[in-house]
Amino acid sequence: MARAAVPGRLIWRVATVDATKDETATARTLVLDVPGWPGHLAGQHVDVKLTAEDGYSVERSYSIASAADGTRLKLTVQRIADGEVSPYLTGDLQPGDQLELRGPIGGWFVWNPSSTAPVLLVAGGSGVVPLMAMIRADKDKVPVRLIYSVRSPADVLYGPELSERARVSPLTLTYLYTRAAPAGMPVGRINADILAAAGWPPDSKPAVFVCGPTGFVEAAANLLVAAGHDPAAVKTERFGPTS
Ligand SMILES: Cc1cc2nc3c(=O)[nH]c(=O)nc-3n(C[C@H](O)[C@H](O)[C@H](O)COP(=O)(O)OP(=O)(O)OC[C@H]3O[C@@H](n4cnc5c(N)ncnc54)[C@H](O)[C@@H]3O)c2cc1C
Repeated sequence: MARAAVPGRLIWRVATVDATKDETATARTLVLDVPGWPGHLAGQHVDVKLTAEDGYSVERSYSIASAADGTRLKLTVQRIADGEVSPYLTGDLQPGDQLELRGPIGGWFVWNPSSTAPVLLVAGGSGVVPLMAMIRADKDKVPVRLIYSVRSPADVLYGPELSERARVSPLTLTYLYTRAAPAGMPVGRINADILAAAGWPPDSKPAVFVCGPTGFVEAAANLLVAAGHDPAAVKTERFGPTS
């Protein structure tokens, strides 16, 4: 496992799409079978490579949404309307199709499932994907608090599964809606009051993971550090150019 995470040793593997699942109108989960997959830790990602018939190829990174499960991997891709790769992955790719990927990548933004510290997960949009892998890997039921900022209820990824996990395990969910909220709920952005009310206090010494668009991650991480969280315990991953 540790050897596989060293970039110099990564090899491209051929993955076959087993199934696809629409999570929202613009996001799709790809269930992949990757022969030879060495296993991964929650929080790691893969590089996906697509190659056209004329040899032109393009690569993008995608977080792994699933806990380790043999040769099976789940990726969830949010379609960017004018994007080069995400419209293909969320629209054209079908079961039986193949693509190349390499990984697992990343040794910092990972959750160690043997850790007993409470966990605070702060997600912006599709930044919930690697955090979902952590929730799915939480077999020992370490208490987890997820603060999930999303444009509207229709944009929530994994909604039914999150609700069910919150029912049966010590997972607390707090949704923040930035454009349209359900009746009776405010529209707004992450702030210090929400982090104080829905997160863990710094003296609980939580493991903290923040993931999403760059602006969201910087805002949330700054708020957490200003609230007294140890900067070294606040791990961040940035997905896109801006929030
Ligand atoms: C470590 C890592 C993990 C990632 N994991 C995921 C994941 O699990 N799911 C997922 O959907 N994406 C993930 N991404 C983002 C992904 O790699 C691509 O950037 C994204 O799919 C857009 O690619 P594209 O080719 O469609 O768009 P591009 O052709 O690269 O870009 C088209 C336009 O969209 C803008 N843009 C690019 N990316 C974003 C973005 N993320 N948000 C807003 N605007 C953007 C560009 O500036 C450009 O204007 C991850 C990125 C990193 C670095």
